[in-house]
Parts: sequence; C-alpha cells; structure tokens
Amino acid sequence: MIVNMSTSATAEEIDHIIERIKECGYQAHVIHGTERTVIGAVGSNGRRAEIEALRAAPGVQEVIQITHPFKLVSRQLRQRRTVVDVSGVKIGGGDLIVIAGPCSVESREQLMETARSVKASGAQLMRGGAYKPRTSPYDFQGLGVEALRILRDASEETGLPIVTEVMSETDVEIVAEYADMLQVGARNMQNFSLLRKLATLTRPILLKRGPSATVKEWLLAAEYLLAGGNSNVVLCERGIKTFETATRNTLDLSAIALAKELSHLPVLADPSHGTGLRSLVPPMSKAAAAVGADGLLIEVHPCPERALSDGPQSLDLPGFAELMKELGKQPLIEVRAA
Ligand code: PEP
Ligand code: MN
Repeated sequence: MIVNMSTSATAEEIDHIIERIKECGYQAHVIHGTERTVIGAVGSNGRRAEIEALRAAPGVQEVIQITHPFKLVSRQLRQRRTVVDVSGVKIGGGDLIVIAGPCSVESREQLMETARSVKASGAQLMRGGAYKPRTSPYDFQGLGVEALRILRDASEETGLPIVTEVMSETDVEIVAEYADMLQVGARNMQNFSLLRKLATLTRPILLKRGPSATVKEWLLAAEYLLAGGNSNVVLCERGIKTFETATRNTLDLSAIALAKELSHLPVLADPSHGTGLRSLVPPMSKAAAAVGADGLLIEVHPCPERALSDGPQSLDLPGFAELMKELGKQPLIEVRAA
C-alpha cells in the first residue's frame, strides 16, 4: 500500500507514519519528491486494516491499495486453476459443466421427470431448491427436508449429483447430509456466520454473487470459505441490479472474465436469474461460455407456466434439450414435449 503525504506534511508527521507502518508489520520505503513525500508499506504479512486507518492521521492525503485485499482466492497466490470435484464431476477442468433443474422442488413427480430429462439431454449435475429465499413471505417457501429426500432419490436413480441452497446456519448439517454441493444464494453472499460454518465442511460450495456486490466483495466472501478451511469453492455470476428494468437482472459477463483473471476458482454463469427471461437463456449461455465460464446453472421445469417459482425464466424440457445441442453437448436420447 502507498501512503501519500500532503504537501504541507511536517517532518514529525512523516516520521510518525513511518513508525506506524513498521508497527503494523511492514517495511517503510520513503520517497521524498519535490512537492510531497510518498511512503510505501511493503510486505505481505502486515496488518492491512491499520494502514488503511492512517487515512485519518495528520499530514496524510490518501492511502492507496496497490494489491488486492484477498489472498487465498487470488491467482497471485496460486497460478494453477482449481478444479472442484463434485461427487466425480469436475468443475474447472476444461469442460463446460451444465447444472440443470427446477427453481424449486415442487413434487416427486416434477423433480423425477425433470431429472430424467436433463440427464438424457446431457446435464452433469442437477439443481432444485428445497429452502427458497423468496422476496415475499407469502410466496412458496420450498418443501424443506421432504425436497432434500426427493433430490437424493433423483440422484440415486440418475447418478446426477445434487446442488441445492442452504439458507441458514441451522440447516447446514441437514443440507450437507443430502446434497453433493451446497449453494449460497445471492442474498446470503455476505452472511458471514453462514460462510464461516460452511468453511468447516469439505463439501463443495457454489457461491453466488450478491445482486449489489462488487467483484471484490464477491471474492472476499469466497476468501471466508478458503480462510476457514474449505477450498472447494465455485463462484457463480447470477446478474446484478442496474437501472435496466427490461431484464430481471443484468448478467455481468465482464465479471465472469474478471473473476477468472483475478482468481484461480472456477466460475459459473446463471443466465436464468441473470436475465429472468426464457428467450435470453440460450444466447446468454453461449455468451457466458465465450467469455470463459466453466459451466452454467440453468432452471428447467416440465411445465414452466405451472412453476411455483421462476416459471418465466425456466426452459421447458425440449427447450433445454435444444440448448444442450446448440452448446455441442451430445443428448443421450431424444427429448419430446411432455
Ligand atoms: C436460485 O438459484 O434459485 C436462487 C434463488 O438464486 P439467487 O440466489 O441467485 O437469486
Ligand atoms: Mn430461481
């Protein structure tokens, strides 16, 4: 980090900052310019927050960060890309991995039908919400444990590992008992006590980007998981809030490319929540693949018009099969309309 002293800083003020930088565990490199003095805080194991606080010290003009605040998720620390193994499916290993399934698990029939069909179309993992974060408390909240059992049964039958959301710290054990990968939803990206608890697991975590989170905040949320001991983390861009109202969110493709540049973790795209519109899911899936996404999270429902959540953005079964063909995925069998 660099501390820029103001042009009127006194020799005592400059000496004080040099002392503080050393106390915080860094070396101080001082450059005396013609107009002002600039002091670099050099080192990797110092107390960064205390250097940032020097903004408030007398004689300081500004404190500039020159390195990223995240460490373990950073590519500076680890050049080799992380491959996350979800019960045998490798995310980040070069193949575009497709996770498909309904927004919510609504019934055994609905989930089984979807599971068989997405498997036939070539999906490698299955999704389905058991605990739903809904904007309104009056909307369908999910079937809870019953949904977890249905998901497990669908996994036994199809061989597809399961991804499902865990909304609260108190549900971590039960969700981890049934799911192959635990999703942290966009609204919970900065639920730090949930992240700390998930960090104690070895189960892979799918960490969605918050709708108003910067890429830095997203990577720092992932840092909580790695710092706590769980390095099986996959990032997922799911659209952010912008001034645009024609789409539900704005799928931030540049954030996918940037996250891959800054971090060694795999990055997925969720074009379903990212757009909110079924017709935009295929083109944005291809766009995400083109900018380097390691996979896609796609909502699929046997009858989107009857879906209890997110019907307008869900593909139907033939629509998903068609997209998989367009993505160059070989369908196992022909999928027909229900
Ligand atoms: C979901 O995946 O169904 C979901 C609720 O996603 P998000 O947290 O991105 O809104
Ligand atoms: Mn949804």
